Amino acid sequence: MIRCPKCGRRQPASVISCDCGYDLQPYRRQLQTEALAYHAAARPYRWLPIFQILLRLMGAVCLAGGAVGAILLLADKVDFWQVVLALVAASIIAVPYFASAEVITVLLTVSAQQPNLQQLLQRIEQALQQTDA
Ligand SMILES: [Zn+2]
Repeated sequence: MIRCPKCGRRQPASVISCDCGYDLQPYRRQLQTEALAYHAAARPYRWLPIFQILLRLMGAVCLAGGAVGAILLLADKVDFWQVVLALVAASIIAVPYFASAEVITVLLTVSAQQPNLQQLLQRIEQALQQTDA
């Protein structure tokens, strides 16, 4: 299905011109070019989920390292506050990793919603054109 940019009527994708007389061929070519451009832009995002998993793993390793360190310190019967300090330090080191992983989540969500946003903008544009006419 293709939506006529002039009257907003939905037409089968194979139709050459709309009932209102609008030539849909150049419009269809423009849509295809935009779709190709979008896929090219989306490509760098493909390795991000792997990077995200690595960042979460690094964060988990930091926390686990802190926990192991704390247990070893407890076994050495050191001061209680030194154990707490080791845990807090491990948590502080882990935070940037988890935060970066969350930033990637936001990036991926925005990237996935981009075609919907483009469609929405086009619909608003069409509605405005129809109001003007
Ligand atoms: Zn039309």
